[in-house]
Amino acid sequence: MASHIVGYPRMGPKRELKFALESFWDGKSTADELQKVAVDLRSSIWKQMADTGIRYIPSNTFSYYDQVLDATAMLGAVPDRYGWAGGEIGFDTYFSMARGNASVPAMEMTKWFDTNYHFIVPELGPSTKFSYASHKAVSEYKEAKLLGFDTVPVLVGPVTYLLLSKPAKGVEKTFPLLSLLGSILPIYKEVISELKAAGASWIQFDEPTLVKDLDSQQLEAFRKAYTELGSSLTGLSVLIETYFADVPAATYKAITSLKVVTGFGFDLVRGSKTLDLIKSVGFPSGKYLFAGVVDGRNIWANDLTVSLSTLQALESIVGKDKLVVSTSASLLHTAVDLVNETKLDDEIKSWLAFAAQKVVEVNALAKALAGQKDEAFFSANAAAQASRKSSPRVTNAEVQKAAAALKGSDHRRATNVSARLDAQQKKLNLPILPTTTIGSFPQTIELRRVRREYKANKISEEDYVNSIKAEINKVVKLQEELDIDVLVHGEPERNDMVEYFGEQLSGFAFTVNGWVQSYGSRCVKPPIIYGDVSRPKAMTVFWSSLAQSMTSRPMKGMLTGPVTILNWSFVRNDQPRFETCYQIALAIKKEVEDLEAAGISVIQIDEAALREGLPLRKSEEAFYLDWAVHSFRITNCGVKDTTQIHTHMCYSNFNDIIHSIIDMDADVITIENSRSDEKLLSVFREGVKYGAGIGPGVYDIHSPRIPSAEEIADRIRKMLAVLETNILWVNPDCGLKTRKYPEVKPALTNLVAAAKLLRTEL
Ligand code: GLN
Ligand code: ZN
Repeated sequence: MASHIVGYPRMGPKRELKFALESFWDGKSTADELQKVAVDLRSSIWKQMADTGIRYIPSNTFSYYDQVLDATAMLGAVPDRYGWAGGEIGFDTYFSMARGNASVPAMEMTKWFDTNYHFIVPELGPSTKFSYASHKAVSEYKEAKLLGFDTVPVLVGPVTYLLLSKPAKGVEKTFPLLSLLGSILPIYKEVISELKAAGASWIQFDEPTLVKDLDSQQLEAFRKAYTELGSSLTGLSVLIETYFADVPAATYKAITSLKVVTGFGFDLVRGSKTLDLIKSVGFPSGKYLFAGVVDGRNIWANDLTVSLSTLQALESIVGKDKLVVSTSASLLHTAVDLVNETKLDDEIKSWLAFAAQKVVEVNALAKALAGQKDEAFFSANAAAQASRKSSPRVTNAEVQKAAAALKGSDHRRATNVSARLDAQQKKLNLPILPTTTIGSFPQTIELRRVRREYKANKISEEDYVNSIKAEINKVVKLQEELDIDVLVHGEPERNDMVEYFGEQLSGFAFTVNGWVQSYGSRCVKPPIIYGDVSRPKAMTVFWSSLAQSMTSRPMKGMLTGPVTILNWSFVRNDQPRFETCYQIALAIKKEVEDLEAAGISVIQIDEAALREGLPLRKSEEAFYLDWAVHSFRITNCGVKDTTQIHTHMCYSNFNDIIHSIIDMDADVITIENSRSDEKLLSVFREGVKYGAGIGPGVYDIHSPRIPSAEEIADRIRKMLAVLETNILWVNPDCGLKTRKYPEVKPALTNLVAAAKLLRTEL
C-alpha cells in the first residue's frame, strides 16, 4: 500500500512551536527547552503518520523558521553582514538572518508562490562561498530512525532554491543566479551521501518552480542539476515533488525523461490539466507517480469516491505497484487538527479535514486501491459529502439568483471619473493635497480587553458601546486637532479586517485553533466560507454614522473588499472562486448602499490582498484580474456621483497590474509605497495616465520611526513631479493599528505640516 505525505505543519496543534520560539527569543527559555519542544512535535507527527499506516513519511519538513532558510543554512550561504565565522550554523546566526539582530536587519521575506506562507529570500552573488554548514536534514533523518521511523528526507531542490533567490547587493541587475548551480551541487552531494550512509532509501526534492512558466534555460538547469547529481544518487530512489498547479506540457516532457528520477509528485487538485497530460503524453515506465489527490491547501474533507476513481484511472496507466497516493502539496498550508475544534457544530465538522485528518484520508485511499477498502470510512465520507451538497446552510436560492443575474454586465458607474471627482469636490470642498489615513488607529491593550470581555459576555452591550464610542470620539477629536481633512473612525470595534465582516455575514464559520503559519512564529486563522454568502443586516452603519455625527468633516465609511475577504479565507471548493467572490461583492454592495443612505459620502473599500490572488501562470492572470476587478466594481457601481469611493492596497508592487487597478475605477486609491518610492512612480513616469485620486503612502507604518515634515515634503515633491497636483492625496502607507500613540501623533503632525507647506508652494 503506497501512501505519502508531502509535508506537515510545524507549529503544533495548539501552536506549541510559536510559544516556544517566542519565549526563547524573549530570553525566557533556553535553546535546550526550545529544542525539546521541537523534538516532541516531530516525533508526534512521525508517530501519527506511522500509526495511520503511511508508507512514505517525510522528515526535514520541520523548521525553526522556514525551509528555504534551512536550505540557505545547509549551503552555508550566509550574507557577510551576519558575521558568521564558519562551522555548523547555530540559532544565533540562523535567527539573525530570519529576524535581524541589534545591529543588522533581517533578510528579505517574500510570499511562497501563491500561498500566505512567507520564506526568507536567499541573497547570492559572485562572492558567496558555499559550504556544508547545517546537518539538519541528516540529523532529522537519524532522529526519526532512532525512534523507529524510516522517513523520506525532504530538501528544497537545487533549481527551485536558485530561482527563488535574489542577486546580492551590488550585482542586482546583472548576476545570473543559475550560474551558481555548479557551486551548490557539491554540497547537495555531500548531504546525499550522508543520508545514504545513514540508511535513507528515498529522497524528496521539492521543485515547485516546475509549475511556473519556465524558459528553456531554466528548464535546462533542471536537466543539468539532476544529471549532475546522478552518480551520487545511485542506490537512492529519487522523488521530484511539484505542487500548486499543473506542470506545463514542455516541462512535463523534460522532467519525466530524467533517468535518475524514480518518482514524480504532481498536484492533482490545483493541477487540473495534469491528468490529461499523463494520459496524452504518457508516463515513463517503471517510474512512480505520487498522485496528489488530497488537497493540502484547504480544509475540506476529500471526496473519496471521486479521488478513488481518479486513482484507478491513473493505475491503469502507470501500473498497480507504481502509484502512490499523496497530498497535493505540503499540509503546511492547512490547519492542523480538527480534534481541537470545540466550537464548530457537528454538521460543519463532518465536511472538514485538517492536516491530521488528511493523513487518514490518504491512507484510506491507498488501502482502498490495494483492495482493502474501509467501507465504514468511505460511507461516512459519502454521507458527509451528500450532506454538504444538500444542506440548506450551504445553499441560498436568492443569493444564487442574484449572483447569476450579474452576468453580461460590467457594473460600471454611470459617469466617468473626472466628472465624478468634480461633483464630489463641490460637495466635500477639500483643499488640494487632501490628507487622510487608511483606517485603523492604535489598538491599545485596553481596547482589546473591552472587545474580549464583550465577546465573552463579561460586560454589557451598553458598556461595550460606550467604550467604543469614547474611543471613536477620542480618535475623531485627535484628527480634528491634527487638522486632517478626511477622517476615519479608527476601527476600534474590529479585531481583524476580514474576520470582522465574516462574523456578520452568513456562510462563514470560524475555528478556535485553525492556525496556519504565515512566517516564522506568525500564524493566521482564516475564516471558512462554507455556504452562499449574504448579509443579514447592516454591519458598519451604526459605527460610521455615530462617527460622522461627531464631526463636520467627511468621515470615511470603512469596508473590506470582496477579493480581500476571499483571498484571506478558506474558500469553498464546490463552486468556482469567482462565484464566491461575486456573492461577497453583492453583500458588500448592500453595505455600501446603506452607508450612502445614512449620509456617509466617502466610503473606502480595502482591497489589500487583491494582488495576492494572482495565479502562478501568466496565461491565467487575465481571467483572475477580470473577475477580481469586476467584483470590486459590483460593490460600488450604484452609488451617486457625489459619493466618493476610495480603495486601499498593501504592497507596492503594482506596476504589472496597473491597468487592472485603473479598471477598478475607484475615485481615490491609497497605496503602500514608502519603501519603494521610485518603483511605483516609475509607472506614471513611463506615461501611464491616471486620472483618479491617488495617495501613495508618504511614510512607512511598519516601523516605529517618526518621519520629519521635511522628509515627507520631499516625498510629496517627488510625487508631484510625476502626478497632477489635483489628484494627489497625502496619507500614510497603511493602517496605524500596530503603532503606538507616541509614534502616531508626531508622525501625523508632520504629515499635515508637510501637506500644508506644499500647498503654499503650489
Ligand atoms: N483599513 C485597514 C486598516 O487601516 C486596512 C488594513 C490593510 O490594508 N491591511 O487597518
Ligand atoms: Zn494596507
